[in-house]
Amino acid sequence: MDRPELLAKLCEALPGLREVAAAHGLSGGLEKVLKAARDGESIEEPLRAIGLFSFITSVTVRGPGAEHSGMVGVPGMEGGGHVVTGVYRCPNGACGRIEHPAAGGDRPSCGVFRDALRYESN
Ligand SMILES: [Zn+2]
Repeated sequence: MDRPELLAKLCEALPGLREVAAAHGLSGGLEKVLKAARDGESIEEPLRAIGLFSFITSVTVRGPGAEHSGMVGVPGMEGGGHVVTGVYRCPNGACGRIEHPAAGGDRPSCGVFRDALRYESN
């Protein structure tokens, strides 16, 4: 697994990961992982050190394969009449995460780089 893919998984899994880490007393170790990510260092090693590497790699992310299907019908809208185009991407391409806008959803943010995802229209 290459670094952008691993970062995308880390980014997407982070909210759940924080809970898992807190429950197991690993919050400090998780912060080391995030620091390594921000510093451009390998995150595989610190993830393995706290035993969460396999947790991360089991996460399924929606990119970059979803990249070309930027049109989504908004759930809850009858007949799928309302269509949102474009996707949210991790700021500055920091990680490979891609999110499709959700109806009434908050603007997604990158937990790793503490930045709101950037919207790109198609
Ligand atoms: Zn990210």
